[in-house]
Amino acid sequence: MRIVAIANQKGGVGKTTTALNLSACLAAEGARILLIDLDPQANATSGLGIAQEDGGSLYPCLIGQYSVTDVIRSTRIPNLSIIRSHQELAGCEIELAQAGDHLTRIRDVLAPLKTSGHFDYAILDCPPSLGVLMTGALAASDELLIPIQCEYFGLEGLSKIVQIVPQICESGANPNLTIEGIVMTMFDSRMNLTQQVVNDVRTVFTDVVYQTVIPRSIRLGEAPSFGKTIVEYDPGGRGSLAYQALATEFLTRHRNS
Ligand code: ADP
Ligand code: MG
Repeated sequence: MRIVAIANQKGGVGKTTTALNLSACLAAEGARILLIDLDPQANATSGLGIAQEDGGSLYPCLIGQYSVTDVIRSTRIPNLSIIRSHQELAGCEIELAQAGDHLTRIRDVLAPLKTSGHFDYAILDCPPSLGVLMTGALAASDELLIPIQCEYFGLEGLSKIVQIVPQICESGANPNLTIEGIVMTMFDSRMNLTQQVVNDVRTVFTDVVYQTVIPRSIRLGEAPSFGKTIVEYDPGGRGSLAYQALATEFLTRHRNS
């Protein structure tokens, strides 16, 4: 099982939308996916139309109450399981920060899954801050997938998250973290600036950047309010096609690596 963190310390860049819809499209391709919602705001959980529940998040595992297998739930989507989020996860930022081993807690909690053979990929939807949950997620992950918005301020956040990778590697907690990819989101072909941003990011990061670009689409924004993934809400629409292409590209990258 490969653990893939979807992270960017900026909010509103498409992390949750990507975590949710990439997970659903990978599952449709037959990959066995565990989506882990690590954001206390629980947008990935509610975006799948799943209720939050006390004790249903990774939190009780992080404080040693439950084992990770106790909080995994199947979903209506074949091949897609989830560990939900709940507001209770916000407590980690304070409680774990005081623990000496906070950087490695998520890694250690997920360790049994690495050997269980139940999942091909765990996809971690990270919160938008450089706090304990996000750094812990990176310390637990094999790969980092960074969504960035096709706008000028998207670039600013990118250099910051890219700089964190060597820091995590040098911490000793996770020497093998790599940047799996950068995915450009909310592309709007009517705006010249968005094409310019895509070009700039490709110039600097070359092949790390996904060929697939996610368009800005009203349907993608609407789907979570119906508790649906984009392939359920608007099958065949632009957003669906984009996330299906992203999943295909993701799987091709992993087959070749
Ligand atoms: P993050 O998890 O990085 O904070 P989200 O995935 O929640 O970002 O996206 C922020 C907002 O933008 C949400 O309301 C979401 O529905 C919307 N959104 C995300 N991607 C797109 C897109 N490609 N087109 C239109 N709206 C989008
Ligand atoms: Mg989010």
